[in-house]
Amino acid sequence: MSEAENCTHDCETCSAACDQREKAPADFMEKPSQFSSIKKVFAVVSGKGGVGKSLVTSLLAIALNKKGYHTGILDADITGPSIPKIFGLKEKAQGSAMGVMPVVTKRGIEVISVNLLLENETDPVVWRGPIIAGTVKQFWTDVVWNDIDYMLVDLPPGTGDVPLTVFQSIPVNGILIVASPQELVSLIVSKAVKMANMMNVPIIGLVENMSYFKCPHCGKETKIFGESHIREIADEFSLPVLARIPISPELSEACDLGTLEDISAPFMDGAASALEKIPEKEKD
Ligand code: ADP
Repeated sequence: MSEAENCTHDCETCSAACDQREKAPADFMEKPSQFSSIKKVFAVVSGKGGVGKSLVTSLLAIALNKKGYHTGILDADITGPSIPKIFGLKEKAQGSAMGVMPVVTKRGIEVISVNLLLENETDPVVWRGPIIAGTVKQFWTDVVWNDIDYMLVDLPPGTGDVPLTVFQSIPVNGILIVASPQELVSLIVSKAVKMANMMNVPIIGLVENMSYFKCPHCGKETKIFGESHIREIADEFSLPVLARIPISPELSEACDLGTLEDISAPFMDGAASALEKIPEKEKD
């Protein structure tokens, strides 16, 4: 298909390099608050829900925090936010004259999530797409992100409104794709790769979650969700494999109790080192 045929006639959502474009994609970039300082931004994506995207985002934030970096998490999964629970955050985000202040975890990771703003965290978010996308933009523009070295954006699954808004309005340095072994044989990963290419955002690599279960008694590894195809997929798209995370009752229990920061789960340390090698974007 030619670029003109790809055109959706709405420059705000269209990725075609069409000569009738009224605004360059870069024009949709939003500036963070004047009180914020954010060096690098990485988005964590998955094809569908429940594959452990929020767990991977949290483990990566913990790994970066342990390396001494000031790390933030922007929970863009507005209708299914799970970051506050993983870190056991109970207090609400407060406003100040400068803007909204993120809530800080026990070890100093700064978090913003719709659950930190809702009066009652069990209230469902029943909002239309543009309101949800607008909220995510405000998490970038109206929150005071204090001296952040690494900002991780936990995106909702799929390739809908919110990922599009994030890639158009936030200067994302790269994407990490999380998938389970089952997903790695489907078209889901190719869709995420194609979206990243359309949005011109580099993919840093793949993370396979729930890869295997290691028996605590005999040490035998069982591939509960089938054989891994991560190597084939990584080769097909020339992407590095950043981590393979086992199914671990310790991980799910820590997520449920809000104690993930307290356990030793160094699965994302290699991925954290990969992010260190990505240069900062030029600021205008
Ligand atoms: P997503 O963000 O993709 O919807 P979550 O990170 O919220 O998924 O994970 C979904 C559920 O699966 C959570 O209860 C989490 O604790 C559990 N989970 C994810 N990965 C693992 C794992 N490797 N071992 C054990 N439980 C896991």
